Amino acid sequence: MPILDSFKLDGKVALVTGGNRGLGRQMALALAEAGANVAITSRSIHRAEEVAQSISEATGRKCVGYACDVANPSDVESMMAQLIDEFGGIHIVVNNAGINIRGPIDQLTLAEFQEVLDTNVTGMWLVCRAAAPYLKEQRYGRVINIGSTLSIIAIAERTPYASSKGAVLQMTRALALEWAPYGITVNAMLPGPFATEMNTSLVEDPVAYQSFIQKVPLGRWGELHEIGGLAVFLASDASSFVTGAGISIDGGWTVM
Ligand code: NDP
Repeated sequence: MPILDSFKLDGKVALVTGGNRGLGRQMALALAEAGANVAITSRSIHRAEEVAQSISEATGRKCVGYACDVANPSDVESMMAQLIDEFGGIHIVVNNAGINIRGPIDQLTLAEFQEVLDTNVTGMWLVCRAAAPYLKEQRYGRVINIGSTLSIIAIAERTPYASSKGAVLQMTRALALEWAPYGITVNAMLPGPFATEMNTSLVEDPVAYQSFIQKVPLGRWGELHEIGGLAVFLASDASSFVTGAGISIDGGWTVM
């Protein structure tokens, strides 16, 4: 197959959790541009449907929005059942939904710590579990888990987020081994700083904003469109021998 054809996603169905804004929206758009039909989720059906329609209009691909709190097991099961009913199957799962609550450990509540773990770790586990029967049955799948630079290094005052993103990388590795016999690849993308809603407080603080530039050898924050290429690669047959990897997309931060 000519190399560029191996990146095409025609005939594939992709799910992107938290696909209604930020990195998730950008990856959903990139997957649709590469040919996939795409399901996106938000906790708000209105936000999901509005963005699904805009992706569909921009790409000509089918895109449907679902309401789903990834930390809620019945929401996840019901979303997956609706998706299978609507699209007839699933091939690509992008576990992107995530939150960050920052602060010194003695100023955080247990509820805040648990909320981050529930969303970033348990949510990912629940979505993978819900997709398992379909991916295993067809003996094909591409699972992409969104970790972070903080999956491998740390920053002060990030105990919930760093704990959760470390777990994302280890869950990725364990599941890559578990699903290798089924032809399902499981990889993690580890982004550095991108100016999304999650980082509004950092982007609006000139000192914090600049401090991240100093951590990044390329000398800048990532631009949203730069997340799409790696997502399409990992979702496609171009990455058929890549599994269990945690791939940094951080302007070189983690080699410092
Ligand atoms: P945003 O805050 O812009 O988007 C987060 C997305 O997650 C939203 O779509 C939100 O949907 C969804 N979400 C949050 N909680 C839940 C939940 N309980 N159930 C379902 N969906 C939920 O953040 P980013 O785009 O920046 O982040 C996307 C991913 O990338 C996250 O996993 C984040 O940790 C990771 N990342 C981001 C980096 C960055 O610099 N931006 C760097 C490294 C990793 P809604 O609120 O509508 O429900």
